[in-house]
Amino acid sequence: MPVPGIPILEGKYPSTMDLYPLEAKEFNRIYQFYENLRQKRFTTTKCKKCGHVPFPPRVVCPECNSEDLEWVDLPTRGKVLRFTEEVAGVPLGFDSPLIHALIDLGEGRKFVSRIINCETGQLKEGDEVQLAVFDVPPMIIEKKGVMTEAARVFFAFEPAKAEVK
Ligand SMILES: [Zn+2]
Repeated sequence: MPVPGIPILEGKYPSTMDLYPLEAKEFNRIYQFYENLRQKRFTTTKCKKCGHVPFPPRVVCPECNSEDLEWVDLPTRGKVLRFTEEVAGVPLGFDSPLIHALIDLGEGRKFVSRIINCETGQLKEGDEVQLAVFDVPPMIIEKKGVMTEAARVFFAFEPAKAEVK
């Protein structure tokens, strides 16, 4: 029988890195972020009052406290500035190598992401990486006594595809 709540770590889901495991809109005022991810869009909120664009998305502007926000697209490609590659002793649930990179998305926007679909020794500083969206175990939600599955997605980055051969 399904149990409501956040699923137990299964497969390679980085649960500790998820922004908001309760993605469904019943629980989460930024669920639009995940809806957009499903469309392969990498988005965040922009304050209509002061123009601040934080990441991750917010429901209140951290600069001016305005709640008048809109969704904007961020680049889905960036360049690797620095990276770490864990080969041995990776945390439970992760594949080796476990790679994290500081990525420059342009416009002065830098952030750290996990890099997937990448072999040991493959990544180099300056490499281009692209957004990768993948399914993670759904969350079981009880709605009026009925268990339903709320589908979930998460993201990482991966080496950008080379030109088609
Ligand atoms: Zn603001």
